[in-house]
Amino acid sequence: MAASHSSLLAAASSSSCATIAPRLPRATRVAASLPSPARASCPSLRAAGRPLRGRFVASAAPTIQPPAESRVSTVVDVDLGDRSYPIYIDSGLLNEHDLLQRHVHGKKVLVVTNTTVAPLYLEKVTWALTHNNPNVSVESVILPDGEEYKDMDTLMKVFDKSVESRLDRRCTFIALGGGVIGDMCGFAAAAFLRGVNFIQIPTTLMAQVDSSVGGKTGINHPLGKNLIGAFYQPQCVLIDTDTLNTLPDRELASGIAEVVKYGLIRDAPFFEWQEKNMSALLAREPSALAYAIKRSCENKAEVVSQDEKESGLRATLNLGHTFGHAIETGTGYGAWLHGEAVAAGTVMAADMSHRLGWIDESIKKRTVDILEQANLPIAPPETMTVEKFKNIMAVDKKVADGLLRLILLKGPLGSCVFTGDYDRKALDETLHAFCAS
Ligand code: NAD
Repeated sequence: MAASHSSLLAAASSSSCATIAPRLPRATRVAASLPSPARASCPSLRAAGRPLRGRFVASAAPTIQPPAESRVSTVVDVDLGDRSYPIYIDSGLLNEHDLLQRHVHGKKVLVVTNTTVAPLYLEKVTWALTHNNPNVSVESVILPDGEEYKDMDTLMKVFDKSVESRLDRRCTFIALGGGVIGDMCGFAAAAFLRGVNFIQIPTTLMAQVDSSVGGKTGINHPLGKNLIGAFYQPQCVLIDTDTLNTLPDRELASGIAEVVKYGLIRDAPFFEWQEKNMSALLAREPSALAYAIKRSCENKAEVVSQDEKESGLRATLNLGHTFGHAIETGTGYGAWLHGEAVAAGTVMAADMSHRLGWIDESIKKRTVDILEQANLPIAPPETMTVEKFKNIMAVDKKVADGLLRLILLKGPLGSCVFTGDYDRKALDETLHAFCAS
């Protein structure tokens, strides 16, 4: 593998380079018809780069709020023609049995969850599926918890249960959990009987703002993150924001890394809103969390609607992920949370963008500041060497014809490019600036 690294990491002149302009917010549909009831042990933080003066802009992104008096739910549409689906966002949605039942096809449901989430929410979801609905039968498979189990052996447990339970093509798989469960359940749904119905009930901030939307499903290979998978869209995404009440602080911060990403790549007003509201997010103020989830889903839905299979635009959602995935793989899956690795990777991407002269220092500084404010790491762990980064990045999914393409910030806040057309010296300098050896 090592022999190909220098050519791989060299910038080619004929690479794809998509400049992504900032966009206006997508409209959110308010579904008046839907009634509604009701850093702990973070890896070492090393400062990256020299301190710079920050600039804070006081403006908020426009938002459409449901009328206060009506018990309504926010719905963001993912517009994919005949595979379009709604993302429901509200507190208490797991009490809305009608809402969930509306999207179940057939009479058999398999809930895929894990040992942590099952005691918290499996009973509630089973109730929502079966209340006033005697025709449906619910099976569940409870997987071990952790990124290290996002693998083929664990996936087989889902297939074993499906076959043992004689599930047929009319069944529905439900992912109940964070991104690991969502990715695995989605992949299982894509593959079982060549595709069965699938619903996402994300219970981490990471899954609610990112992984449950857009249909990327899959598992890890020991040599690289998410290398085996499929694009497979759910019937709906049901986000009950109450589930965040049980989420540990470290996991909440991990999800915030992806929220920050949307601001940096395409939504400057959202980034500015985050700068003003980070304390409220960390304090789990419901209105701040609801807004961050809604705005993130709107951004993701808009990107996915334009580029479902990642031919260009969608790749920009991976800002910091090439460096981040290398950290996750290099440290052993699960040691660093996905969002922690993405946060350090985002700082590295901002650093490289600045070295290339593509962003001014203030954007780099604001990137570091907001991630630090969210209690996220701003540099990789000391065990990550330059060679390790290069080895792992060589098998990244964004390598095309031997060329590593990266998402880099370029232009004003909220703009980025997906490109292989960069000076490889800048990448080398960034890697050496963040790695001791
Ligand atoms: P995770 O699924 O491992 O969940 C984090 C932890 O929180 C787990 O221990 C889980 O059991 C626990 N948990 C979940 N919900 C809880 C709740 N409500 N209360 C208490 N504990 C709860 O990790 P994650 O951060 O949700 O997701 C990371 C995964 O998502 C990675 O594998 C990453 O590759 C993937 N991902 C996929 C996409 C995509 O587009 N498909 C996007 C981003 C991330």
